[in-house]
Amino acid sequence: MVLNSPRGTSDFYGKELEYRNFIIEKSKRLFERFSYQQIVTPAFEHTEVFSRSIGEATDIVQKEMYSFRDKKQRSLTLRPEGTAGVVRAVVENKMYADLPLKLFYEGNMFRYERPQKGRMREFFQIGAEAIGSDDPLMDTEMIWLINDLFSELGFKDLVLLINSMGCEECRKDYMEEFKAYLVQRLEKLCPECKKRYDQNPLRIFDCKNQACRVEAEASPKISEHLCKQCYQHFEKITQNLNLLAISFEVDHSLVRGFDYYTRTVFEVISRQLESAQNALGGGGRYDKLVGQFGGPDIPAIGFAIGTDRTSLLMQQLGIKPLRPKRARSVYLVSMDQKFSSFLVKLLKFFRKEFKCDTNFNKKNLSTEIKWAEKNDYDFVAIIGEEEFKNLMVTIKDIRKFKQHTFSWENEKDKILALLRGN
Ligand code: AMP
Repeated sequence: MVLNSPRGTSDFYGKELEYRNFIIEKSKRLFERFSYQQIVTPAFEHTEVFSRSIGEATDIVQKEMYSFRDKKQRSLTLRPEGTAGVVRAVVENKMYADLPLKLFYEGNMFRYERPQKGRMREFFQIGAEAIGSDDPLMDTEMIWLINDLFSELGFKDLVLLINSMGCEECRKDYMEEFKAYLVQRLEKLCPECKKRYDQNPLRIFDCKNQACRVEAEASPKISEHLCKQCYQHFEKITQNLNLLAISFEVDHSLVRGFDYYTRTVFEVISRQLESAQNALGGGGRYDKLVGQFGGPDIPAIGFAIGTDRTSLLMQQLGIKPLRPKRARSVYLVSMDQKFSSFLVKLLKFFRKEFKCDTNFNKKNLSTEIKWAEKNDYDFVAIIGEEEFKNLMVTIKDIRKFKQHTFSWENEKDKILALLRGN
């Protein structure tokens, strides 16, 4: 019986992997220029790490976590997102010596969602976190990063949405008004949103149900109730973005699906993707989270992008991952098992500088040359009976249809010059 991969997961190889690696490579280079350092945290954490931070009333915690008991009956969860684990690590390792701490990560995330195009149960995210500054310039930097990441990947028509969710102060008055508005419309909301109304009314903004969306759209917005500091903070960010010529839309309904956000939130969407799965990445400020994890009361902000959706849209729009200049390549063909001592020496020599593979399963010479052509090799190096006897190697330039035989003992320089293209 052939076993399939679990629902909502995929194998990555060939073109799909090329896209993912391209996105990772590009983002790493960008993070380096903005002075962010990589952090690697475990793929699973104590369940509390997520339930406490993402929020008990969110869809992720209530329905989507892969939680399990280990052999000692501890409740563990495969990470559904990256921020909680990073904050746990920062607090546990007391990484506060030099603030702001600017980190990036990449890795697989897991959510038990209904799989569809662009929505999987295992997916890959790249994210950044800046911990220890509430300067609007830090918010600007985060938005700048996510914006440049997508433009460097080759996107032109993405939309950057931003909003402010205010602080605890702004929310006090607002929540009263918001609940007063909703209570008159409870009948129109889905059963889930009725529960949300009691537990965590802001989550109504995440609901995909059309009737709930209509009510949420028409409701009073937190961004219209900002305190003076939060208002000015947001103003400064929009001014900075204008200075940087980064275009954005202010979306008062944007609240994002995690409880930990305060003040700035942002999302990059494509209007060319189906509406439900149109977000390629997003993030926001989480000024209370480090404190909630038992660390000092320091502000922070971060974002994550999904490589799967990004790659899907790149392919849909015909954006190609441009390969970095690759090393020249030699396919080393040995015509008999008994030449293996010479073959090993040549493999070692070529692999110091060039991409080099050999014909483990020996076929006839013309089949091997055709294979090398098909797989984009630049040269074929041949060890036949004559070459082995005289310690020579014949090198064929695939594109120029030329070949030359060199003495292995005396002409290594000439071989290198030919392969390097000097
Ligand atoms: P979030 O962590 O929910 O803010 O999501 C950030 C980004 O991760 C999204 O914009 C998507 O690109 C990606 N993402 C989130 N959930 C999934 C999923 N189930 N499948 C594929 N990509 C996802």
